[in-house]
Amino acid sequence: MLQLIALHKSFGTVDVLKGIDLKVTPGEMVFLIGPSGSGKSTLLRCCNRLEEPTSGAVVVEGVDITGPKVDLNKARRRIGMVFQSFNLYPHKTALGNVALALIKVSGLSRRAAREKAMAALSDVGLADKAENYPAQLSGGQQQRVAIARALALEPKVMLFDEPTSALDPELVGDVLDVMRKVREAGMTMLVVSHEMRFAAEAADRVIFMDGGVIVEEGSPQEIFRAPKEARTQTFLSRVS
Ligand code: ATP
Ligand code: MG
Repeated sequence: MLQLIALHKSFGTVDVLKGIDLKVTPGEMVFLIGPSGSGKSTLLRCCNRLEEPTSGAVVVEGVDITGPKVDLNKARRRIGMVFQSFNLYPHKTALGNVALALIKVSGLSRRAAREKAMAALSDVGLADKAENYPAQLSGGQQQRVAIARALALEPKVMLFDEPTSALDPELVGDVLDVMRKVREAGMTMLVVSHEMRFAAEAADRVIFMDGGVIVEEGSPQEIFRAPKEARTQTFLSRVS
């Protein structure tokens, strides 16, 4: 489970997150939507302390990872993150990219890492591309490698920040299929995405944020069919 408690984040005098309270329960897939600059990426980045929260707490599986004595490396292992840009090493194959994470982060032997990496690539439908370098893969395939790399580390929570935004439209579906599969496997997921149709179909809950606060949340039906707040209505009328 992932819980944010009274989370604030300021950059200098700019308050970007103004008190976020949010719980993502085990196995839940929560979508976070909202206008550009509303603080979605900052919120995700605070979840694994890529950004240091100004105040408030981030609790992952019962551990407050903002606490003073926390082992940050250990805490980060519980949280997988997938970005818009895939951030693969260009000089390593798909298999090499996933295996490297397992060697560096999980401390596996080279052989064990390659075995586990192969299984992770199979899970995202890329067993046959294991020896390809990133430049020899489509954007969608590269993103699936990035997802495999995160999943191979066996996180408790997966964070996705616009995982399909950099992809050609015809490649988006494959990545969404993988995300659907990850959800079916019971992963706890917090997803920032503009794929409203996917959110409507796959999300357990949708959260609309604007100006650093949660304005409204509910089931996909509640948010997409009958949003209560004017700001949500305006946003949705622009994007869909
Ligand atoms: P988008 O939909 O465009 O990705 P977002 O909701 O993810 O937007 P954030 O990237 O979280 O928005 O940014 C929220 C606000 O915080 C913006 O006004 C941005 O300029 C500001 N911000 C983000 N990172 C920094 C930083 N490192 N230093 C200063 N300001 C920042
Ligand atoms: Mg963003």
